[in-house]
Parts: sequence; C-alpha cells; structure tokens
Amino acid sequence: MRPAVPDDPRRRIPPTHELLGDERLAPALARLARPVVVDALRAAQDAARRGELDADAIVAGALARLPDRATTLRPVLNATGVVVHTNLGRAPLSAAAADAVAAATGSVDVELDLADGQRGHRGRGTLAALRRALPDAGDVLVVNNGAAALLLAITVLAAGREVVWGRGELVEIGDGFRLPDLAVTTGAIIREVGTTNRTTVADYANAIGDATGCILKAHPSNFTVTGFTSTVPVTDLACLGPPLVVDVGSGLLAPDPVLPDEPDMTSALRAGATLVTASGDKLLGGPQAGLIAGDADAVHRLRRHPLARALRVDKLTLAGLEATLTGPPPPVSEALHADADALRDRCQAIAAKLHGAVPAEVVPSAGAVGGGGGPGVVLPGWAVALPAALAGPLRTGQPPVLTRVADGRCLVDPRAVDPARDADLVAAILAAGA
Ligand SMILES: *Cc1c(COP(=O)(O)O)cnc(C)c1O
Repeated sequence: MRPAVPDDPRRRIPPTHELLGDERLAPALARLARPVVVDALRAAQDAARRGELDADAIVAGALARLPDRATTLRPVLNATGVVVHTNLGRAPLSAAAADAVAAATGSVDVELDLADGQRGHRGRGTLAALRRALPDAGDVLVVNNGAAALLLAITVLAAGREVVWGRGELVEIGDGFRLPDLAVTTGAIIREVGTTNRTTVADYANAIGDATGCILKAHPSNFTVTGFTSTVPVTDLACLGPPLVVDVGSGLLAPDPVLPDEPDMTSALRAGATLVTASGDKLLGGPQAGLIAGDADAVHRLRRHPLARALRVDKLTLAGLEATLTGPPPPVSEALHADADALRDRCQAIAAKLHGAVPAEVVPSAGAVGGGGGPGVVLPGWAVALPAALAGPLRTGQPPVLTRVADGRCLVDPRAVDPARDADLVAAILAAGA
C-alpha cells in the first residue's frame, strides 16, 4: 500500500466507531437502525477520502444523507382535487383514527377481556361499531381489503360451483387486477350472463341451476356505460333463490346525495342481498379493510372458514376502522361534501398570500371522487392556477405537493387538503416558484 503522505486528508478521517459516538448523531440513532447510520457515515467518509468533503464535515455529511423517518413513505399534500387517490394511499385517516392507531401500536387488549382476564373476542369493539353503523345487517365481518372480502364470500358460497355474473360487471379494478380472475382462483366457475350494455332478470333466471353457488352483483366503480343500457336491481336478484353477493366497492354505508348513483351497503342489505362486501379505505374514509355484512348464518360460515384466518386484519386496522366509524366525519367525507364557495374562499386566500411572487389565478376546478367510486361524477370546486412548469418543483418539494395539470396550467385544488395545511401550500408554491 502506498504510505499516506503527512498532509493526506485520509489521515485525518476519524474511524467509524469514533464518529458514531458524536452526540449530533444521537437523534438519528434514536430513529434509525444503527447499520443505516453507519452506512451514511461510511458514504460521508468515502466522500472525504475523495476530497469532496472536509474531514470535519463528515458527521454533518452523514446527517444530510439520513432520512427524517425510518420509512421511505413520504407524507404529501394531495392538491389534485381527486378525493380518493389510489396512488396517494386512498383515504387519509381522520385525526381520531390516527390517534386510535397510535394508541394500538403498543400492547392492547385486542383479544383479552380485561374484566375477567379471559381471552376476549378479537375486534369486538370494531365489529360492534360496524353493526351499529349497519343495523340492517344480521352480522358483520372485517377482513384485509375489499378483494379479500369478495374472495372469502365466493370461496364459501361458490368454490367448485358457478357464480352467475352479469357481463357488464366483470370489472378490472386497477393495476391489471380483474375481479373475475380473483373469483376463479377459488375454484368457482364464472357463468356470464347478459351483454356488455344490457342484462335482464331473465338472463340470470335462465342461468340458475343445480350448479349455482351464488349470484354476484359487482359495482363498476371506475367506469360508466351510457346509452342503451340496463342492469338488474338487487331486489330482483334477491328473489331468484341462490345466495346473492353484492360488491358495492366504495364502502358507502348509506345513500349520499352527492353521489346519487353510488351503491351503498344499507340499501343493498335492505334490498335483500345475502352478503354485501366493500372497501374500508374508499368512501368510508378509513384504513385499508374489507367489510362484509349480511345474513348472520352466511357471515358465520365466512368467519369459520380457514381462509378467514389468512385474511384477518391486525390491531392497527381494527383501531383505525373503529375510530372511523365512531369518530367525527373523516377527511374523505369532508372533501366530498366541501362547499364550492368555501373552496373558492380558500383559493383566493392562498392566491393573495403569494403577493404576486408567482402568477396565480383562481379558476373553477372539477374535483373527482377517484378510484373510490363515483365514476364520472364531477365535484364542482375551485383551484389556484399556476404556470404548468411549477408542477414538477411542487411534486419534488418539501412537503411534496401533488397538483393537476390541465389546459397548460398547474391547478392547486384544495378540496382534499386539510384547511389547516393551506399555509403549507402557500409556502410550497413560493418555494417552487423561487
Ligand atoms: C375497489 C373495489 C374492489 C377491491 O377493493 P380493495 O379494498 O381495493 O381490495 C372490489 N370491488 C369493487 C367494486 C371495487 O370498487
């Protein structure tokens, strides 16, 4: 090895174990695994060896390389105007739900009855809250997500038998996943009925026979078919005999006037569905979960099936879901029902605080429900229109702000942003425009 000359910067580089004792690294060692900090130190030491960093700046260099949190997931501001944004984690949790999740992170009585010290029924508080929210259900069950709810229902009712399914409802839910593909993994055979645009009750009736396991009605939650169309209402399917599974998708518990065409769990139960399935993190506004409600015997069969164990939810989901059901309206509900005038006021206040530093104009903006349901529904609102070139810097800023680029402009739509974060939007726009 070539001996280091006296002024060789490599000689002044302290060893890693010595640097690890530097008190400036203590907060990083409290929030990150030691090897992560060591890797950052080594990278900084290497930079110093290459002469790119001063030997005294190694600790600062390592700190600059370390993330704020022990996760790569970064909180962002959703200024797209899309309420349930699939790429942004769907429903943001309410403060009540976030608090409940935080409380459940430690040891909790999830399967213990504190009064008598005996084993308690897992998730009883959450299931009770869901029963209260759906008084028409004989019983309820919670699984990992909407797809899992459907998988379990079809497995129990139709594995090795036929699922009678309207052709116009053979849905791809996104990212290449198709509900019919999911259904056939259970060993069920899909018996398609009707046509793409029209399906009648006779189509279903003619398909029903000894091999029928169940009828499935799935909500086309991400597209609409218009023109010469017809589908069969739940009430008519419920009279046909076989068990009827209705996948409403969004998790809307009751009808919402803002979304007149969106099916809800209560209406499907009242119309006679045997089982209704839905997501917890779409229009319900809770954590990722699959909700199942319906006939008590059918729910009991689902609960006892071995697959139920593989699809069960953890304590954090139970906590977040219960708080979503018993707490104040979640952010999804606030965003969905946001008053257009209030949105305009927020946009004007945001634009005014830019003080002309960035060209901004308050313009009408069409909000959307997003992947959570309400396909084709336009939510009238407002946005701050900025030069399109700001979309990139906003997205890569701190915090990242996701906007919508339309008509050559970058639209900052506050609908799905907590009003308490409007000052952060202003700061982000100013930083992006600087
Ligand atoms: C979203 C959706 C699903 C899947 O629910 P996940 O919670 O995403 O698993 C199933 N069916 C319909 C109709 C949906 O809209």
